[in-house]
Amino acid sequence: MIKTRFAPSPTGFLHIGGLRTALFAYLIAKKNGGDFLLRIEDTDRERFVDGGIENIIRSLQWAGIKIDEGVDMDTGNEIIQKGGSGPYIQSERLDIYIEYIQKLLDEGHAYHCFCSKEKLEEVRHEQEENKQPTIYDGTCRNMPESEVKIMLREEREHVVRMKMPTEGVTKFNDLIHGEIEFQNKLIDDQVILKSDGFPTYHLANVIDDYLMGITNVIRGDEWLPSVPKHIELYKMLGWKPPYFAHLSLLVNEKKQKLSKRHGDVSVQDFEEKGYLPEALINFVAFLGWNPGSEKEIFTLDELEKEFSFEKIGKSPSIFNREKLDWYNREYIKSMSNEEFANRVMPFFVNAGLKVESKKYKIESIIALEKERANTLVELVDEVAFIFAEKLEYEPTLLVWKKSTREDAKEKLEQVLQLLSQIDNNNWTKEGTQKIIMDWISEKSYNNGDVLWPMRVAISGKKNSPGPFEIADALGKDKTIERLETAVKLL
Ligand code: GLU
Repeated sequence: MIKTRFAPSPTGFLHIGGLRTALFAYLIAKKNGGDFLLRIEDTDRERFVDGGIENIIRSLQWAGIKIDEGVDMDTGNEIIQKGGSGPYIQSERLDIYIEYIQKLLDEGHAYHCFCSKEKLEEVRHEQEENKQPTIYDGTCRNMPESEVKIMLREEREHVVRMKMPTEGVTKFNDLIHGEIEFQNKLIDDQVILKSDGFPTYHLANVIDDYLMGITNVIRGDEWLPSVPKHIELYKMLGWKPPYFAHLSLLVNEKKQKLSKRHGDVSVQDFEEKGYLPEALINFVAFLGWNPGSEKEIFTLDELEKEFSFEKIGKSPSIFNREKLDWYNREYIKSMSNEEFANRVMPFFVNAGLKVESKKYKIESIIALEKERANTLVELVDEVAFIFAEKLEYEPTLLVWKKSTREDAKEKLEQVLQLLSQIDNNNWTKEGTQKIIMDWISEKSYNNGDVLWPMRVAISGKKNSPGPFEIADALGKDKTIERLETAVKLL
């Protein structure tokens, strides 16, 4: 059975690139009837951020990615671990790593290295000057055992390094990139145990992937150069390596690596901006994958059935914000007003708007902007005027083009009179529209002379949806109140 994993380090928020890795790993597992595992790689204690684990899981849950094994969060937001190969948080597995490091040392695959930071810096500097590859120079690799023993007894600060072969090549077949070959002599004797007693990523990652039964390692391109080290570790431990698949880099439209400096990068940013998880997932699935057809809208369920390695591309994937907006609009448009109202409600609350559904026709309000808004936050911004106690606008805005203040006032007074006659139960968009439009044609008025001041009076805005939609969403009392205020202003 296929088992894939997502193995983030809890260094803050889940990055959009992380979501892509997680999604692809998840989809590959699901497509093949396998399991998706979440492991937390927190051996780099300097980069650990409190709440980072919760944040990653919350973002995955929000996106709809379900964890079959490993670290998860229950409904009470407590971190849990599930499955038979735990613990799944690396800082809880130190004894396991130490055992394997000892085995590698005992079998001559690893060695203690006592070189100081300054010494390493010096060597590095020299190699750079001589335009040589900057790798560890092997000073401690062949240190006599007796000397090592003395140094250890003296408790000299040290790390443990793996012994990379110094010649030959390491070849492997990446499921996305095809066959890749590395010259062993250019590869560092990687540190596997740090001086703080924590293993490095490389060691812990290999041990865990093996012990947790991971069949397919799916991760970002930046890890490609690490594969030969990992393959060598598998070899030293007598284990069969998993399949590897490295996803292309995510870049912005200027072909730069996505970074915080260039705008939103965390999944939470997108959530807060009012992107729907369905839209973000659909968009992210297309960052490096395509179905090979014209179809662009895929639910997560559909992706689980149709996703495949063969259609994942090698070239960098461009993160195009306009395309994301397009996806979001498509998902917004396709939702019923009722469902959409439920989804948008928390955004009203966040914006500090007192939206009591008894008092307002929420669905009519949402319908005002549903076809236009890119995000839920944008929609809330656009319709916030409905809930305002008092509208702020210049009285001159009420006057249509070549019309006059007096005329606007007179028209509004008549509009007020006509609308006051409609009783509350018949207050609909069609109802108000019929009365006003019939009257306009009866009197042969210009539409603009009436509709402009009416619309500004009830919206306070230069641009807004039409007056009858707004009147419907506002309800009779507020519409009348706003018209009266406008008359007084003129
Ligand atoms: N902890 C690594 C990261 O955060 C995992 C890389 C891998 O998937 O092997 O990117």
